[in-house]
Amino acid sequence: MKLVLLGAPGAGKGTQATKIAEKYGVTHISTGDIFRKNLKEGTPVGLKAKAYIDKGQLVPDEVTCEIVAERLKEADCKTGYMLDGFPRNVMQAEALDKMSAPDLVLNIAVDLDKLMARLTGRRVCSACGESYHVSTFSGNKCTKCGGDVIQRADDNEETVGKRLKVYTDQTQPLIDYYKAQGKLAEVDGMKAIDDVFAEIVTVLDALA
Ligand code: ADP
Ligand code: AMP
Repeated sequence: MKLVLLGAPGAGKGTQATKIAEKYGVTHISTGDIFRKNLKEGTPVGLKAKAYIDKGQLVPDEVTCEIVAERLKEADCKTGYMLDGFPRNVMQAEALDKMSAPDLVLNIAVDLDKLMARLTGRRVCSACGESYHVSTFSGNKCTKCGGDVIQRADDNEETVGKRLKVYTDQTQPLIDYYKAQGKLAEVDGMKAIDDVFAEIVTVLDALA
C-alpha cells in the first residue's frame, strides 16, 4: 500500500497513522518527525529546518524532497509507505509522483476553526512521537514507550496561526490535485478518534 495522509495541522494524521501502522503494518513516515529528530541530533538538516519550523513555514522543497527520496529507498518501504505531512504543496506532490506515486490519498477533513484548541493542547512523546491532548491526558510519561511527554515548541498560538495559513494557501489545493487523479478518499476528522479510524478501515479494506 502506498498511502498519503492529507489534512491540516492537528487534523489527526499522526494519531491515525499510529493506528493504521499497527493494523496494516505499513511503514509510517512523518517528515515533521524526521526534521525534529535531526534537530535533536544537531545535524545540518536539523539546524536548517529549525528556522522554518520555528516560524511555522515550510522547510524548502529541495531539502524536504531529498529527505523523502532517501527515506523511500530504505528496505522497510519495499512494499509501500504511509506518508504523514508530505506532500504539503503541489511541487512536493509532483516530486512524489516522480519518485513513487501513491495509490490512495486519505484526506482527514476537519473544521479549521477547531484546530487552534487541538494544537495548543497537544502533547507529544519526545521518544516515539505518540500524540496526546491535555483534555484527556494529564501525565508526563508516554503510555506506549515510557518516554517524556512534552509540548512541541511550534504548538503555540502565534506559530499555529501561521501554520494554518500555510495549510490553506499551499496544502489545501492538494485535495483538488489528487481528486483530479481519482486517488482521493475523505474521512470525517471531527468524529472521535476511534470513529475516524473505523472510517479509515472501511476505506482501506475496500482496497484489498
Ligand atoms: P496532526 O498529526 O494531523 O498534526 P495529531 O494526530 O497530532 O495531528 O492530533 C492533534 C491533536 O488533536 C492531538 O492532541 C490529538 O490527541 C488530538 N486529536 C487527534 N484526533 C482527534 C479527534 N478525532 N478528536 C479530537 N482530538 C483529536
Ligand atoms: P508537522 O510535524 O507535520 O506538524 O510539521 C512540523 C513542521 O515541520 C512544519 O510546520 C514545517 O516547518 C516542517 N515540515 C514538515 N513536513 C514538511 C513538508 N512536507 N514540507 C515542508 N516543511 C515540512
